[in-house]
Amino acid sequence: MNYSNTLEFAKEMDAKDPLNSFREKFYFPTFHKNEVVYFTGNSLGLQPKTVEGMIKEELDAWAKYGVEGHFLAERPWFSYHENLTEKAAKIVGALPVEVVITHSLTTNLHLLMVSFYQPKGKRTKILCEAKAFPSDQYALESQVKFHGLDLKENLVEVGPREGEHLINEEDILAKIEELGDELAMVMIGGVNYYTGQLFDMEAITKAGHAVGAKVGFDLAHAAGNINLKLHDWGVDFAAWCGYKYLNSSPGGVSGMFVHERHAYSPELPRFAGWWGYDKETRFQMEPGFNPMRGAEGWQLSNAPVLGMAAHLASLNIFDEAGMERIGEKRDALTAYLEFIIEDISERNAERGTFEIITPSDKSKRGAQLSILAHGQGKALFDALTEQGVIADWREPNVIRIAPAPLYNSFEDCYQFGKSLENAIQ
Ligand SMILES: *Cc1c(COP(=O)(O)O)cnc(C)c1O
Repeated sequence: MNYSNTLEFAKEMDAKDPLNSFREKFYFPTFHKNEVVYFTGNSLGLQPKTVEGMIKEELDAWAKYGVEGHFLAERPWFSYHENLTEKAAKIVGALPVEVVITHSLTTNLHLLMVSFYQPKGKRTKILCEAKAFPSDQYALESQVKFHGLDLKENLVEVGPREGEHLINEEDILAKIEELGDELAMVMIGGVNYYTGQLFDMEAITKAGHAVGAKVGFDLAHAAGNINLKLHDWGVDFAAWCGYKYLNSSPGGVSGMFVHERHAYSPELPRFAGWWGYDKETRFQMEPGFNPMRGAEGWQLSNAPVLGMAAHLASLNIFDEAGMERIGEKRDALTAYLEFIIEDISERNAERGTFEIITPSDKSKRGAQLSILAHGQGKALFDALTEQGVIADWREPNVIRIAPAPLYNSFEDCYQFGKSLENAIQ
């Protein structure tokens, strides 16, 4: 397609966009009374206008019924999480039995690793990506230490080759093979939060299984962004947060995936709580733990209904849009934004250039572009902010922007370009 860096072209693209009207379903922050160009849906998604009503329903039920709301509320709180399962499962390409919405991301990662990281004999190592998101690094380190194992020896990282920004996938697969029967678990971010690189989760899962390891993914930057097929890929476990591309309120409830093949496995070690107990007999409060079938068996606590209501509001929008259309728009929008940045970089080369470190191949990325600003520092980013662009700055000189397909427009991309050009001048 021939792109053009003009307002006219951007508006034309918006007019043709089948998801164009979804923008109206969200509140946009304003700056100097204008709507901002919001490109940080990968950090905190915008608020759907339906959230307030969904939460209000539960506040009203609480006022009206008190504790009886567990059974008398229109969506009884006892089983509230069940309202979210099917919609969340569609987003990550899973069977409903494989998914539960519960807890927060890092909590879920730990709960899953307690079950799926079982170092035994010489099979003790974890493979992860270098420069993983800090919370994941701490979680992995503490898991290794929890088993009394040496960190240096057992936490193996694959990073980019000398002088490169991205990780060569061949290096991950080669490392898995090399570690062989010493490898207990692979745990990688499906989309790297810093570079926006999307990994081939199917190939990594296959390679991990070939050497007898368990394979899990942190999908914080993938859920609601990438067209996932966790079930078909055979992934053992995964976790994601609800508040990035999934727009479900700051620190909101998050998701867990456990493959069907582990659906009923009371022998798997786990940190248990009453909400993971078989719901038919939960209130007999018998000693001894009999888990729910599937991912629900990893729940510890009864659901925080207000947070779940916010998430449900957002999942309803995803359900209406469908991941297929979201994926198509994601690719078109990201490609247009890439074109604009390259156009501006070329035309202003004497002031320093922009290098997009995110893969240019659309099958290797989602909705994020990470831009290295050569010859430009934080001042450039601050100038962008001053013009009403909400983006993300990472030291020493990377700007991360994410055009979220549900609510960002081609015009947003054009406006970003204008602000970028002003900022470098
Ligand atoms: C955002 C993010 C987190 C945040 O974890 P919380 O438990 O939700 O605070 C963790 N890991 C990755 C990869 C993330 O992108």
